[in-house]
Amino acid sequence: MNSHEYITQVDRVSAHNYHPLPVVLERGEGAWVWDVEGVKYLDMLSAYSAVNQGHRHPRIIAALKAQADKLTLTSRAFHNDQMGPFLEDLCKSTGFERALPMNTGAEAVETAIKAARKWGYKVKGVPEGQAEIIVCDDNFHGRTTTIVGFSSDHGSRDGFGPFTPGFVAIPYGDTDALAAAITPNTVGFLVEPIQGEAGVVVPPEGFFAKAVEICKDNNVLLINDEIQTGLGRTGKLFCGDWDGSRGDIMIVGKALGGGVIAVSGILSNSEIMDMFTPGDHGSTFGGNPLGAAVGRAALDVILEEDLAGRSNELGNWFMDELRSIDSPHIDHVRGRGLMVGLVIKTDSGPARPFCEGLKDRGILAKETHEQVIRFAPPLVIEKETLEWALSHIAEVVQGAEVAVG
Ligand SMILES: *Cc1c(COP(=O)(O)O)cnc(C)c1O
Repeated sequence: MNSHEYITQVDRVSAHNYHPLPVVLERGEGAWVWDVEGVKYLDMLSAYSAVNQGHRHPRIIAALKAQADKLTLTSRAFHNDQMGPFLEDLCKSTGFERALPMNTGAEAVETAIKAARKWGYKVKGVPEGQAEIIVCDDNFHGRTTTIVGFSSDHGSRDGFGPFTPGFVAIPYGDTDALAAAITPNTVGFLVEPIQGEAGVVVPPEGFFAKAVEICKDNNVLLINDEIQTGLGRTGKLFCGDWDGSRGDIMIVGKALGGGVIAVSGILSNSEIMDMFTPGDHGSTFGGNPLGAAVGRAALDVILEEDLAGRSNELGNWFMDELRSIDSPHIDHVRGRGLMVGLVIKTDSGPARPFCEGLKDRGILAKETHEQVIRFAPPLVIEKETLEWALSHIAEVVQGAEVAVG
């Protein structure tokens, strides 16, 4: 089948819950992917930062294959010999005492919400059923009914209510609003250190550090969603490191699975993790030996190849280069490390046609929130490759071919 036939087939047999670029991929290596016609593209999305280590990193694939030949799934009804070593590595490299493995990001967010609520009742003394969690406008934490209930994005919410109570929203980056929103029943503040899906929104200088302080002063858990920003993406191992805190509960996912398999989890101290007792939370696949072996290798690659350092260096240089492009369509460039948003002026129309122009030149990037083109290539990308991409990006954002959609 050709690309057109694959796309038509999916339209026919699946739900229409995405609006993908019209490209059908069949192979990947490092920062590159190939479509079914054999056309080569640079992946500048990295599956929303789930492929920080690059496509099919040899060490991660080796771990996957070796484990696939031994044992893949036990459920948590039994122990397996992979989960402990994986979580020990994860705790050691993050500085937390405990880790609880899940699969998708949304499941880990749900796990964090449950841990924070129970901590609120058992430790903080919040009256049963009254726990409140503060979230931010324009947040993205996943797609479950509870999570979309506290989204401010109409597309994510409409038609899916009734929603779970107990969430209060404040403007992102506003520490006065955070302080004002806290009540004796507040158990947690759930926040992304940079809002990815909102369009790579970097908070004002000092926001996160101040939020940490406010939470501490009020006995509120800072729940840091590093699913997209973590594991090297923003130029530090975790984005919270820019402000000296990883939170009381840190949520990880995406790149923890090395671009291979869904591996997520939460990290915390023992007091918080001990809120969970046998029977009150779980996941059939969480902590499975295949995912654990892959997650361990995925983490190893990030650390040993210093992908955070690489992201910082290349990201700073890449953003400077983007800012030096002389184009009537660019509003501004923002981001940290290789998590970059190029904001198209509203007068120039939406970002989508620019992404289509990039696709025609062999660069896969995806618009987020109408006006923003997100650039988040695998962190293993070579500088020369980014140079090549920059020349095409410059032409596309300057070019008449896509001007005003
Ligand atoms: C992707 C993402 C999630 C949800 O992860 P899934 O694996 O898609 O469920 C949650 N929070 C943030 C910040 C994300 O980027």
